[in-house]
Amino acid sequence: MVVVSFARKGGAGTEFGLRLTAILCISDFRLMKRAALALLALCLAAPLVAQQAPGQIRPRPAEGREPEFKAPTIREYKPKSQLVAPEHLVPRAKFPVIDIHSHQPTPISPAEYDRVMKGMDANNLQILVNLSGSFGDRLRRGVEALTASKYKDRMVLFANINFGGSVGAGFGAKAAKQLDDDIKAGAMGLKIFKDLGMFVKKPNGDRLPVDDPELDAVWETCARNHVPVLIHIAEPPAFFEPLDYANERWLELSLYPDRRHQTGVRFEQLLAERNNLIKKHPNTTFVLAHFGWHANDLAKAGTLLDQYPNAYYDVAAVLYDFGRQPRAAHDFFVKYQDRILFGKDSYQPDEYPYYWRVFETHDEYFDYYRDYHAFWKLYGIGLPDPVLKKLYYQNALRLTPRLSKAGFPQ
Ligand SMILES: [Zn+2]
Repeated sequence: MVVVSFARKGGAGTEFGLRLTAILCISDFRLMKRAALALLALCLAAPLVAQQAPGQIRPRPAEGREPEFKAPTIREYKPKSQLVAPEHLVPRAKFPVIDIHSHQPTPISPAEYDRVMKGMDANNLQILVNLSGSFGDRLRRGVEALTASKYKDRMVLFANINFGGSVGAGFGAKAAKQLDDDIKAGAMGLKIFKDLGMFVKKPNGDRLPVDDPELDAVWETCARNHVPVLIHIAEPPAFFEPLDYANERWLELSLYPDRRHQTGVRFEQLLAERNNLIKKHPNTTFVLAHFGWHANDLAKAGTLLDQYPNAYYDVAAVLYDFGRQPRAAHDFFVKYQDRILFGKDSYQPDEYPYYWRVFETHDEYFDYYRDYHAFWKLYGIGLPDPVLKKLYYQNALRLTPRLSKAGFPQ
């Protein structure tokens, strides 16, 4: 038996230490010598990895140097890529699209609808689902404005729950009754905003959990009426992390104070409540907005879909996560082709083509439209036509049977 013990202490400002003790029970001397050399190499290499800055694998050769010129801020530094690669811009989607996640005024004025329609036609958007449909009288006026418009069946509304005030005993039954009326008035689904889980309160001031039984009647109303619930719970995982220079969304959080969450509730807690809700209501269809915030972890995204057959994803505002893992994203979209719906969220006609390019091409290393979302480039995931059709409209038509099928290929 041999006891090998190394200790090494580094200097010059970096404090590191390593003590490695190994007990070797080796009869062969040559083997022992080789093991001792390997251990020594490990000890010498250890300082290189012991003190890494976030996002950095090992100290860089120029460590200790300072730039000779004034360094640009992260907002100023926009290097122009020298890469010359094939470009296939896609100004218009290959197949007609249902955007299941849009926000428009309710009721929409004829002039505003004209403006929206220009962008829809340019992008091959056949139907916009306006998730800001409101409830009661406003929703009814919203439906009337669409019915009276010259664009038949090109926009529909999802209803919302009036969470004004707190959620106490009896709230659920009342909200369910209102929702029933709203569906009769023409709402084709229910949209739940991120307030649920983060800001909606119980009468005693406590946070209302996403899966609180008081709301069961609401989810069951959707199941009974065969309308989907498009539900936005939580925020990107980085929003719940410390706001330091290792945070992938530092710039965005720095620019938008309202995206910093000091509500105290953890990301994991919100998702656990959401998943319990999905499990508790197997007959209700849940479309998880923004890929359920799992686009950065496709293994987790797949596990959720495997566990809950009533769960679906929309792709709204998480394009940056597909575009940075094109091979994995391609395989995921093919494997779960019946479970993903197209959605964009903010209505900017000139931003849709980034989605078309990611989904339809194999282009490499191209810009995303918001640098505060993503400090990286995108790659196309090149989906085959049958998968594109499901993503663009077939899945949405299946989940929302009252949508008009006019304008879609058979
Ligand atoms: Zn939204």
